[in-house]
Amino acid sequence: MQKPTVHPNVIVIDHPLVAHKLSLMRDKATPSMMFRQLLREISLLLGYELLRDLPTELRRIETPIGPMEAPFIRGKKLTYVPILRAGMGLLDGLLDLVPSARVGHVGLYRDPETLSAIEYYCKLPEDIADRLTVVVDPMLATGNSLSAAITRLKDYGAADIRAVCLLAAPEGIEAVTSAHPDVKIYTAAVDERLNDHGYIVPGLGDAGDRMYGTK
Ligand code: URA
Repeated sequence: MQKPTVHPNVIVIDHPLVAHKLSLMRDKATPSMMFRQLLREISLLLGYELLRDLPTELRRIETPIGPMEAPFIRGKKLTYVPILRAGMGLLDGLLDLVPSARVGHVGLYRDPETLSAIEYYCKLPEDIADRLTVVVDPMLATGNSLSAAITRLKDYGAADIRAVCLLAAPEGIEAVTSAHPDVKIYTAAVDERLNDHGYIVPGLGDAGDRMYGTK
């Protein structure tokens, strides 16, 4: 089940399994090992909705019982682009769903003073223009990183882009949907707001630190 809430381009994956796993992740007592496991599990559920409209085509196969026209995924190939480093936490589950997807990487960090996104790495598949491109970042906070990554992808030729994140803040949604009205955002929840340091409230803290135990 899914319901668009805050903006027509934002799809909130409204499912008890997603909500339960996200609540466990929000709890500051949840250790890194479990946080990573839960993020991977949620990525499968988010990916299921994210890829719901992939086109299929019928091909003739033989089952042990007889012939049939069976549906297979057709057409456009996929590229996942995790934003380093926290985007990596969603990647393995998404790759489980589509193992043949290419993976590009965009490395961005937030300037702690201005909260603007600074790029330090970018490696993308050459044929990205022909692919559905999914930008992967767990936390849509100010929207600066996601907007910058999408701009970079467009400069590189990507035309069919969607974004998947675990949590979104209204400020980030506003920023990304204004800068990139052609991009749909899939998320598990939309939280209240950002605090003065650009963290999502109530959120779950710094996703990268929670994943890797660096704080
Ligand atoms: N990045 C995070 O990891 N957490 C936030 O709350 C905001 C940005």
